[in-house]
Amino acid sequence: MAEVLVLVEQSGGVVKKVTAELLTVAARLGTPAAVWAGPGVEAGRGRLAEFGAAKVYVADSADFADYVVAPKAELLAQLVASASPAAVLIAGSPEGKEVAGRLAVKTGAGVLTDAVDVAAGPDGSALVSHANFGGSVNVRARVKSGLAIITVRPNAVAAEASAGEAPLVPAEFAASGAAKAARVVSREAAARSARPDLQEAQVIVSGGRGTGSAGGFRVIEDLADALGAAVGASRAVTDAGWYPHAFQVGQTGKTVSPQLYTAVGISGAIQHRAGMQTSKTIIAINKDPEAPIFEIADFGVVGDLFAVVPQLIEEIAKRKG
Ligand SMILES: Cc1cc2nc3c(=O)[nH]c(=O)nc-3n(C[C@H](O)[C@H](O)[C@H](O)COP(=O)(O)OP(=O)(O)OC[C@H]3O[C@@H](n4cnc5c(N)ncnc54)[C@H](O)[C@@H]3O)c2cc1C
Repeated sequence: MAEVLVLVEQSGGVVKKVTAELLTVAARLGTPAAVWAGPGVEAGRGRLAEFGAAKVYVADSADFADYVVAPKAELLAQLVASASPAAVLIAGSPEGKEVAGRLAVKTGAGVLTDAVDVAAGPDGSALVSHANFGGSVNVRARVKSGLAIITVRPNAVAAEASAGEAPLVPAEFAASGAAKAARVVSREAAARSARPDLQEAQVIVSGGRGTGSAGGFRVIEDLADALGAAVGASRAVTDAGWYPHAFQVGQTGKTVSPQLYTAVGISGAIQHRAGMQTSKTIIAINKDPEAPIFEIADFGVVGDLFAVVPQLIEEIAKRKG
């Protein structure tokens, strides 16, 4: 079986959950081969093996940290030439999408972005599912000739453990002059809350304009903390400055696909739905029974969020004992 390359997303040697999801998809299409760009592979190798990596290509170069995304695209292009994989899978993060686009240009391959599922078609090639226009249109697509480059939305596919050997295969790599055109000159770690990462979270509580103010939005944080959830927000909230833009969900914000998405005081505009419609279960709390969010909700509560949410928090606390 041909190899399927998986570009590993990791931070300080800690492999991100989306990489396990990509390895699961890769096993459906061929032999999963992880690609590790940068130092620290020893820390992450165990997790790659746990999710079925048959091998791990390692390019231990500082260029990946120093020169933004271009070197990663070059490394993948080099491996495409030497390993002739059936497909390349990349996380559907902003960085991953840029790597995919650059790789497609370098290899002349077809690129399919923001997949919510990937299956093997009758001929073994990748059949890629997309949820378009805010999830109102489901599309299946495949690359008709040669290599397929696919970015997969985090949390869209369940990662399945499957033992792999994960031997390390060194990949000689030196970034070209062109890939070094833009250099990272400094880094500042973003302030991290104790809450889960928005795009990796299994449970998200999102608040909208219905919260009324930055002070009113605190009720969203309280519910999120009661559930051990990540906090999200509609654009109305982030534009008003009630919560940082980094937490915006939607077309011009983050795309999320948790097990549970609770939309509180959010109307359900198409641009918001575009970022959360593929959540497995959706709960809506809104005082307007006609709010469009109820069209896609699995459970809905019609009521004033300032009355409903505190009761919900109290009930959760009781059940936790
Ligand atoms: C190009 C473009 C890109 C966009 N990208 C995004 C995006 O990425 N993400 C995004 O979210 N939006 C985006 N928008 C904006 C989008 O169109 C909506 O304006 C926005 O999502 C509305 O946010 P909201 O639901 O919080 O506010 P509103 O639409 O004002 O809805 C507020 C809701 O709260 C309810 N409510 C009010 N008070 C209470 C209460 N006390 N208790 C319970 N319910 C209450 C109301 O009934 C209402 O349904 C984009 C728009 C454009 C044009």
